[in-house]
Amino acid sequence: MVCYGGVREIGGNKFILEDQGVKVVLDFGTGFSDGSDYYDSSISPRGVNGAGDLFEFDLLPQLPGLYSEEALQNTRVRYAEPEYDAVVLSHYHSDHTGRIGYVDSRIPVYCGETTSLINDSYSGSTGSPLDGHPIRKFRTGDRFSIGPMEFRPIHVDHSIPGAYGFVIQTSGGTIAYTGDFRFHGPAGSMTRDFIDAARTERPELLLTEGTRVSTEDDALNMSETAVKKEALKMVRGAKALVFSTFRGNDVDRVNTFFDACQPSGRRLVVSMKVAVLLEKLKADKRLRVPRVGKDVDVYLRRKRTGRFDDSDYYSWERPFISKGVTADDIRKKQREVFLHLEAWNFPELIDIKPERGGTYIHSATEAFNEEGEKEETLIRNWVEHLGFRYAHLHASGHAPGSEVGELVRDISAKKVVPIHTERPEQFKQFGAEGRWTLELPAKGKPISLVQ
Ligand SMILES: [Zn+2]
Ligand SMILES: [Zn+2]
Repeated sequence: MVCYGGVREIGGNKFILEDQGVKVVLDFGTGFSDGSDYYDSSISPRGVNGAGDLFEFDLLPQLPGLYSEEALQNTRVRYAEPEYDAVVLSHYHSDHTGRIGYVDSRIPVYCGETTSLINDSYSGSTGSPLDGHPIRKFRTGDRFSIGPMEFRPIHVDHSIPGAYGFVIQTSGGTIAYTGDFRFHGPAGSMTRDFIDAARTERPELLLTEGTRVSTEDDALNMSETAVKKEALKMVRGAKALVFSTFRGNDVDRVNTFFDACQPSGRRLVVSMKVAVLLEKLKADKRLRVPRVGKDVDVYLRRKRTGRFDDSDYYSWERPFISKGVTADDIRKKQREVFLHLEAWNFPELIDIKPERGGTYIHSATEAFNEEGEKEETLIRNWVEHLGFRYAHLHASGHAPGSEVGELVRDISAKKVVPIHTERPEQFKQFGAEGRWTLELPAKGKPISLVQ
């Protein structure tokens, strides 16, 4: 196997497995700091140049037979018929899906059933990188073969529903791939299921994420339950509007804030994009999802004419117009509302005109790069301008370092390859000597299954 991303970086997972001429792409995402030395919000890759502006800085590997004709049309790389048999996706986060849009759409994408619902919701609203690809669905308990490789997907707990790890039998031995995982969410036991399944197969190779494997970040690990407990206190004690920034596709967090609202009778108000997702996810009977219009309300932004005309909105937004709550509605009952508001939507607060003394909950990871820090400063300025209290409340989607260490020891593969981490060498602290070897990945360098 070869790593083309997720190497000394958080996210950007891009792995290629090859067995007897059959090639499979395992996740194909955008790194969080991918290309930030060359591109940011002011300089972006040109759409017309497809993958070309990413090839320039080695942000995408130049592999023949992987990309679509469209992605290559204005580049120096020649199009070739697909040489890859499948993309296998662990979960629907952009650091795992983000670059699939460049892949030849004749190559099928294998994903979990829940991921396929999430994909439908994005596909029907803002668009999805999986658009155009045939989708092959799986769930825990299934096994599927791609050429000589047999994939066994096993659910894991993460900050988006439908996250999987894989145990993969190849002719050269067994590979276990964790995807992204944690134990401290509402479904922590699912990650244990993955460990059990992987350990039984005695894998030659363990490909594991290590987002939080570092020397500093072990002390504080807030669980989703702890977030709920704190949120309950904050909502109960709030005397004015409560609003919060969080990832709308983190359904655990939606539930947490929904639950926190119940004792005081506040209404959770979400964006249209989140509403579309919740409506889609209703089809998954195993998920707990609040009902749009019954349990949660939808925020209706003014657009174009500013008069809430049907023609102001996209067709996917229109079903929510009649059920929507506007800035005026919220202003009139601000003590009864918990508003989900992404930072880019903060100007809505100018229309809402909240009374001073409310609470803002920043419910996301702390900033880890300059751009993130800039955004956090802006958020703090807005909160101060409103005369609101600023609170940070978040449970990570990733296990702390010590628990990654436990997973590594429990699975006890012969070789461990740390990916999705800025500090792969820190895995030495898990005591590899004699029991397993640590192989630090390098972009484009093949990793063999034998020691
Ligand atoms: Zn990730
Ligand atoms: Zn993730």
